[in-house]
Amino acid sequence: MIIDLRQLFDVIGDHKRIDYKLDLSEYTLDQNKPFPHPVHVVGEITNQVGIVTLQMTVSTLANFVCDRCLDEFQVDYEEEFEHIIVRKLTGQNDDYIVAENARLDLDELVLNDVALSLPTKILCKEDCKGLCCNCGANLNITECKCGEFQ
Ligand SMILES: [Zn+2]
Ligand SMILES: [Zn+2]
Repeated sequence: MIIDLRQLFDVIGDHKRIDYKLDLSEYTLDQNKPFPHPVHVVGEITNQVGIVTLQMTVSTLANFVCDRCLDEFQVDYEEEFEHIIVRKLTGQNDDYIVAENARLDLDELVLNDVALSLPTKILCKEDCKGLCCNCGANLNITECKCGEFQ
C-alpha cells in the first residue's frame, strides 16, 4: 500500500488511520515461510508540531520452526513499531524513513520491520532439549538410549 502524505506533511495536527492486511506469505526465513496468514497492520500517522510520526502494531498467527528440535509451532506474533517520516534526509539521521514525493511505501516498511524483529534464534521453548545428535530423537518427547552407551 502506498500512502500519500502530501496533506499530512502540510497540516499540523492532521492524522491518518491505518488498518489493513498485508500478505507476507512469500516471506522466507531459513527456508520456512513463517507468515501463512496475512499480517494485520493497525496504526496511525500523525503530524505533531510538524514532525510526522508513524506508529503501528503488526500482528498475525505466525508459524515458526524451532532451530533446535525442528518442531513447527504457532505463535501469536505482535510487535509495535514507530518511525519518524521525512520528505528528505537532512543531516545524517539514518533512522528516519524517507517518503519520496511524500509517498510512503508502507508494505515495504512493514516487511522490513517484521524481518528485523524476528529473533536470530527461534526456539519452541526456552529450555528446548533439541534432537539427539546421534539418533535424531526429539528429546522433548522421548529419552533415547544413546547416552547410556557412551
Ligand atoms: Zn524445540
Ligand atoms: Zn539418541
